[in-house]
Amino acid sequence: MEFRLEQKRNVVTEIPGPKSKELAERRAKYVSNSVGSGLSAFIESADGAILRDVDGNQFVDFGAGIGVTSVGNAHPKVVKAVQDAAAKGTHFQVNVAGYESYIDLAEKLTQLTPGDFDKKAALFNSGAEALENAVKIARKYTGRDAVVVFDHAFHGRTNLTMAMTAKNMPYKDGFGPFAPEVYRFPASYPYRDGLTGEEAAARTALAIEKQIGAKNVAAIVIEPLQGEGGFIVPAEGFLPALVKFAHDNGIVFVADEVQAGMCRTGKWFCSEWDGIEPDLVTSAKGIAGGMPLSAVIGRAEIMDAPHAGGIGGTYSGNPVANAAALATIAAYEEEGHAQKALDIEAKVKGALEPLVGTVPTVGEVRGRGAMLAIEFVKAGGKEPNAEIVGQVVAEAQKQGVMLLTCGTYGNVIRLLPPLIITDELLDDSLEVIIEAIKKFS
Ligand SMILES: *Cc1c(COP(=O)(O)O)cnc(C)c1O
Repeated sequence: MEFRLEQKRNVVTEIPGPKSKELAERRAKYVSNSVGSGLSAFIESADGAILRDVDGNQFVDFGAGIGVTSVGNAHPKVVKAVQDAAAKGTHFQVNVAGYESYIDLAEKLTQLTPGDFDKKAALFNSGAEALENAVKIARKYTGRDAVVVFDHAFHGRTNLTMAMTAKNMPYKDGFGPFAPEVYRFPASYPYRDGLTGEEAAARTALAIEKQIGAKNVAAIVIEPLQGEGGFIVPAEGFLPALVKFAHDNGIVFVADEVQAGMCRTGKWFCSEWDGIEPDLVTSAKGIAGGMPLSAVIGRAEIMDAPHAGGIGGTYSGNPVANAAALATIAAYEEEGHAQKALDIEAKVKGALEPLVGTVPTVGEVRGRGAMLAIEFVKAGGKEPNAEIVGQVVAEAQKQGVMLLTCGTYGNVIRLLPPLIITDELLDDSLEVIIEAIKKFS
């Protein structure tokens, strides 16, 4: 693959550099303080797995815009598709008149999501919007109100999805009251609960029955690999048991694949790892190479439950975003990114797993494909260690490696590189990360 920016980290000033400092001053003056950024440098350009700042520093991008630019930033096929589509019309608005790219993308998505049954799709802009609509569709289909969500869940920042998201700071604090009829239950967190998948699912099912009554539940909404909550892979058997419980009780099972979907875990959708066929899937982030687009895809009879015009939005399925998504999906197919995600997993786990048991602050290395994480603890136990996470992230940043954190306890570093990251760049970055971990452990 050809890149516009050399795929190499390169720190040439202190971080932030002089031009970033100037922008920080203007930002403080004009941008709401509520919009926070992890990196203190300001980005001028990005390509592949490299972020270049306004002072010419190059960072290895282990965030990919939070799992968005999985095919690589500014992928040439995506750029071309966006340019061509924009030249033919920047917006049509689907509730005004139909257009082919909407149908093309819906057709494609129904083929990619798990399950050999008739499916349909609807397109939106953001992950939260997809979740809101999945809940609307499930409620209309079932005629029920209650929505089941889980500890450590992240589903977005709108009013309904804030209610569905678990973590108070920074997502909910002072922003209530929240939407009603959202109920939270324990999920499966093998490192911390020690339960098998069956045990964890039985605990959840019993709690649902006793606290809401299964017959009142419209939807069970879960991330098949919890993202923001800590990159938690549920114990084997947990998700299939939950799907069975849902289907035994007429509940719509919604897999929130906004972060874990689209080849990120080495399959089109993470649900495939657990062999489940969700009734509805929400997709966003990695779907369109960086253009704002999301989708709800699922069983045709459920997707058809709302009345015509009941679902939509001004920008839903914008033609430029659709073209980007079709080009992104073609890139995933043609360039073997799912396999690349598995190669990344092998390399990262090979490098980091030896730290478990030898470096006392490294509790667990986990994840699937290129959705990987390190959970940090206080030496000698499992008490969450958020302090070292801050130190490692700051140290790596100084060396030109941009890392993101996550976890309910703020004690997890997540690795979400673009799937096109080169082997040399990955090896080099892992050395930086390991050195930083050892330095502060
Ligand atoms: C990011 C995310 C969302 C919200 O997506 P937005 O596009 O930020 O609204 C929802 N669910 C999961 C699992 C996510 O990771």
